[in-house]
Amino acid sequence: MRKILTLLIVFFVLFSCKNEKNESEISEKSPQIEQYPTPNFGIVIHGGAGTILKKNMSDSLENVYKLKLEEAIKTGHDILKNGGTAMEAVTKTINVMENSSLFNAGKGAVFTHEETNELDASVMDGATLNAGAVAGVTHIKNPIDLALAVMNNSPHVLLSGQGAERFAKEQGFEMMDPSYFYTEKRFQSLQRIKEKEKTELDHDSKVSFAEDPFIKDSKFGTVGCAALDKNGNLAAGTSTGGMTNKRWNRIGDAPIIGAGTYANNATCAVSSTGWGEYFIRGMVAHDISAMMEYKGVTLQEAAEEVIQEKLPNLGGDGGIVAIDKDGNVSMEFNTAGMYRATMNAEGDLKIGIYNE
Ligand code: ASP
Repeated sequence: MRKILTLLIVFFVLFSCKNEKNESEISEKSPQIEQYPTPNFGIVIHGGAGTILKKNMSDSLENVYKLKLEEAIKTGHDILKNGGTAMEAVTKTINVMENSSLFNAGKGAVFTHEETNELDASVMDGATLNAGAVAGVTHIKNPIDLALAVMNNSPHVLLSGQGAERFAKEQGFEMMDPSYFYTEKRFQSLQRIKEKEKTELDHDSKVSFAEDPFIKDSKFGTVGCAALDKNGNLAAGTSTGGMTNKRWNRIGDAPIIGAGTYANNATCAVSSTGWGEYFIRGMVAHDISAMMEYKGVTLQEAAEEVIQEKLPNLGGDGGIVAIDKDGNVSMEFNTAGMYRATMNAEGDLKIGIYNE
């Protein structure tokens, strides 16, 4: 009997100790769970900045733009939600806009003075500071994919013209017939600019053709994307047909790392749109990152200073979209409008066109 009683006591003591341990395990674990918050991620895109005014836009066209922006951003958001990389989200999102004639990139690229289409694009990976870019390609359906191939599969950062296309062939890219890039709207924009240029030369006009709102608008329409993935990596990319009526194999800011595109895990990822010459001179995308790094300002403060002060002081206009390492987003522009959209980890979607 005594033995049984002793056994019962030992069993009881052991059991209560185990329970205590479980409780203490739980109470120790609980705060640890809070130390691992849901991974943050986010994405932001632009479809170009310019003289985009509500009075010049029909409700149906506005809707068409909004639907395409939504389709593009949801493509990238789904990739991020499922654990994909920021770079994959950026390139696949840009593909949607490159394949649409609505934007000045890929299919909808503007015309050069010689009535050809020359496309520029770049990508940058914020984790490695690796980058790839192409300029002046004329047969590539999705220049952003070729920029990625330059980053991943070549020892170089920026390839141009025929050399870039030889590389594309070696990489197995499909070569498009240049007629793929013909759109009536872009062709008419070029004719209108040429006509205006001619008239001004004939009449020795004092008003610069660059001030004509139609012409100013037809300069823009580049597409770009910046994303933060669940692993805390940032990436950015930009793709464009450049500026209508460009000559002499002009290259804009879109394929210039630091001007049109920049990403650094320590700060932010940025994609630019606007008058490329000024974005190159201002090194706009890198300047925003550098201000965060060296001055310790927030992404929004840096973007505002660069886009609302430094860029206009040079004489340039346009905008940027950017996301920082914590998922904060900036969509800053100094033009009448900028096609733009953003989505956060919770799936909240914001789409904008005008300055509102
Ligand atoms: N930044 C582009 C360029 O200058 C134009 C644009 O943003 O639409 O080539």
